[in-house]
Amino acid sequence: MEQQPKTLQRAIQHFSDEQVCIDTVAKMRWPNGPKCPACGHKEHYYLKTQKRWKCKECYKQFTVKLGTIFEDSPIPLQKWLPALWMLVNCRNGVSSYEIARDLGVSQKAGWFMLQRLRLALQNNSFVKLGGPDSTPVEADETFIGGKARFMHRSKRERMSRNGGMQGGSGKAVVMGMLQRGGKVRATVIPDRKHNITEKIVRELVVPGSEVHTDEFPGYYNLKDGYIHKVVNHLEGYVKENVHTNGIENFWSLLKRGLGGTYVSVEPFHLFRYVDEQAFRFNNRKDENGRKLNDADRFNLALSQIAGKRLTFAEVTGKVGEAGF
Ligand SMILES: [Zn+2]
Repeated sequence: MEQQPKTLQRAIQHFSDEQVCIDTVAKMRWPNGPKCPACGHKEHYYLKTQKRWKCKECYKQFTVKLGTIFEDSPIPLQKWLPALWMLVNCRNGVSSYEIARDLGVSQKAGWFMLQRLRLALQNNSFVKLGGPDSTPVEADETFIGGKARFMHRSKRERMSRNGGMQGGSGKAVVMGMLQRGGKVRATVIPDRKHNITEKIVRELVVPGSEVHTDEFPGYYNLKDGYIHKVVNHLEGYVKENVHTNGIENFWSLLKRGLGGTYVSVEPFHLFRYVDEQAFRFNNRKDENGRKLNDADRFNLALSQIAGKRLTFAEVTGKVGEAGF
């Protein structure tokens, strides 16, 4: 196979060849060679003209798209792969208008492609943050949006039923934790009541870790089980290295992306933008601190999403519309 491209221009050219796309996805999906999705058998024929495999065991035929997020989409891989490239490599994200313009699809198709790719980028790692010898974990929340008051009442009510909205204020709450110098985890929460912030820290951070937060009372109980240090924002300087600057930096990236690129985000979809920004943030460097380039990030994303299958209904929350 030809060498991997390094820029978006080259990626679009590179992936204009369907066979190159098939080989790329196959390599990420089956690092040890194609495997029959129906029976798991590893011996097969490749039907070159049809660009599909035929299993030697059960005789079923399969394409590289079968069982992946691309499965039921009429959009060719030649457009899916550059779209993924753009999504994981544009620092502030990419809009459906840019996808439409650069890849020659409708804006609506571009929107659905991005939603499906974002959903597939979700962090499904079960590794917790922190640990006895680790750097401190910063925990914080931020409010997103607040344009609800400009909206028609029926729309506002629908949005707050869909979750992610704070009752009266019209803002969504995102809670995040960042291991200093390491990875971030962020999630949309319904509100800040009932010590939900504490519960999330307990779920995602190893007990005994040092946790830095602001004065928000939802974290008070963390002194039980964690080394909880509270940032004093009033004093205006960082004392004993207790701060939440890392997670605040992540919030500003998230907000820049939301404000600059996305015209409007319904709260129902907010978690996908959070996941997308977290994916880019967490994959700036590898485990050894080496900076990842665009091709590395693309390969990583592709290996993560190639084995996932998402239906159209899962992407949109709707059933019965035409697929993208
Ligand atoms: Zn088979």
